[in-house]
Amino acid sequence: MFTSFLIKYAEIGVKGNNRYLFEDALVRQIRHALKRCDGMFKVHKNQGRIYVDALSEFDFEETVEQLQTVFGISGICPVMAVEDQGFTRLGQDVVSYMEKAHGEQIGSEQGMSFKVVARRARKNYPMHSGEINAELGGILLDAFPSLRVDVHNPDIYLNIEVREKIYLYSRIIPGPGGMPVGTGGKGMLLLSGGIDSPVAGYMIAKRGVKIDAVYFHAPPYTSERAKQKVVDLAGLVARYTGPVYLHIIQFTDIQLAIYEKCPHDELTIIMRRYMMRIAEQIAKETDCLGLITGESIGQVASQTMQSLAATNEVCTLPVYRPLIGMDKQEIVEIAERTGTYETSILPYEDCCTIFVAKHPVTKPNISVIRKHEQNLSDVIDGLVQTALETKELIVVGGDSAV
Ligand code: ATP
Ligand code: MG
Repeated sequence: MFTSFLIKYAEIGVKGNNRYLFEDALVRQIRHALKRCDGMFKVHKNQGRIYVDALSEFDFEETVEQLQTVFGISGICPVMAVEDQGFTRLGQDVVSYMEKAHGEQIGSEQGMSFKVVARRARKNYPMHSGEINAELGGILLDAFPSLRVDVHNPDIYLNIEVREKIYLYSRIIPGPGGMPVGTGGKGMLLLSGGIDSPVAGYMIAKRGVKIDAVYFHAPPYTSERAKQKVVDLAGLVARYTGPVYLHIIQFTDIQLAIYEKCPHDELTIIMRRYMMRIAEQIAKETDCLGLITGESIGQVASQTMQSLAATNEVCTLPVYRPLIGMDKQEIVEIAERTGTYETSILPYEDCCTIFVAKHPVTKPNISVIRKHEQNLSDVIDGLVQTALETKELIVVGGDSAV
């Protein structure tokens, strides 16, 4: 019965010129997401609204599911479009719409209330919106005796939009919210195989930021399967963000050098500092405006305030840590909702855990860390250079909309 969707988006912060940039980006991202569905669609802006019209048969559930991956959409309204064949016919169509869209609800719950909200986008329609509301309200009360009108807080808002055709809609399926990807620059996500970093990428992308990623791989200590897991996670993030350029860095030699030359209780911190330095270098080469990590205060020894300060110190780009104040359980909930959790908990080794000390420092002193990094001075520049030169690039998640 539904042939179109009206796309609702939050309008806060999208005024003036920003508004049309926002809308155009949203249209682009919707088109991109719908390529993954069977069926043909036309996505268009019309008088400050965005519509998706189906031009062929389509799978309703699948289409809604894809639209729910598009940041910027706050609500998805399935629309039934009917021809304008006079008001008597419209009355019949509206009754039939209510029957199909809400029949079960009206039948099972006593005293359901409704309100008709008509809008004339086409001003030559012979009735005013107030008249349409009153007439259609009367017709619905006759057709469904258990219904009642409530103009303040109705259970069902029945929207009637008079355009070339007449659009009927009343359901709002929640969208993911946020801003369309591509309206907020690009960030470099440090993506590990854990639970946190994919969630961090999701959260920053939700604010309109395009995501590239870097993964530090340490063969033979980390396996091909561990790497594949990260590629898979990038693919899951890419459902929301569009294609992710995933840079894979061979990190083994750097880790071994640190292991050999630095105090073992500082291994993790020093290793994290080199990850940040390398990630920043790639970020700058690829026009990323910041780094993104899945860190959260106090989660592990390398994420105390002191450790974060030590890690942060080596970066000049801003480091975005969207999970910084969240508990693990809150992070897990987002991972479950966005579909990365099942993959994240697969039990493959991580390069951080392999060289981890029994008692890592929890309150590193930055000048001490710097001093110990001097132990690496003979080799480290060459190792970093080699790591960058042997970097592998995998584009995960198809072609791009931005
Ligand atoms: P996650 O669940 O994201 O793996 P974590 O709780 O295991 O995080 P750490 O291992 O301390 O925490 O890593 C902190 C952050 O550093 C991660 O969220 C991620 O952004 C980055 N990171 C850690 N290991 C890697 C890696 N091998 N490659 C890329 N980034 C990494
Ligand atoms: Mg990890």
